[in-house]
Amino acid sequence: MGTFTIVNPGDQPVWVNTDNCKACDKCVSVCPSGVLGMRYESTSVLGAMISVDHPEACIGCNECELACPDFAIYVADRQEYKAAGFSFAKLTDDAKVRQEQVIANNYMSLSEQGVK
Ligand code: SF4
Ligand code: SF4
Repeated sequence: MGTFTIVNPGDQPVWVNTDNCKACDKCVSVCPSGVLGMRYESTSVLGAMISVDHPEACIGCNECELACPDFAIYVADRQEYKAAGFSFAKLTDDAKVRQEQVIANNYMSLSEQGVK
């Protein structure tokens, strides 16, 4: 985790500082587990905002945090998360399929499909 890390707001495996998100899609593109997606947000930069749609599927791989150029998304430290009584998910076939669907949906959350 970097210098700009914010405190985990609770028991979340992955969380966002929406003030920093520039809606670049990079974190969505690298997530293997279909956890993330963009949502339309008229008040934010580029008209979209990152959304953690499936935190229960996060495998804690850190790829999103590493890919983010704006220090806007954070992943729980594996040891700290475990010590707090939580665990990351295992990567499932369903999660892989969901990630393919999100990519095919131009990195938008699948719930946004109807308004594309
Ligand atoms: S840590 Fe990995 S699985 Fe979790 S949201 Fe980030 S990229 Fe996806
Ligand atoms: S990589 Fe960072 S700035 Fe880009 S959409 Fe994800 S959280 Fe936002």
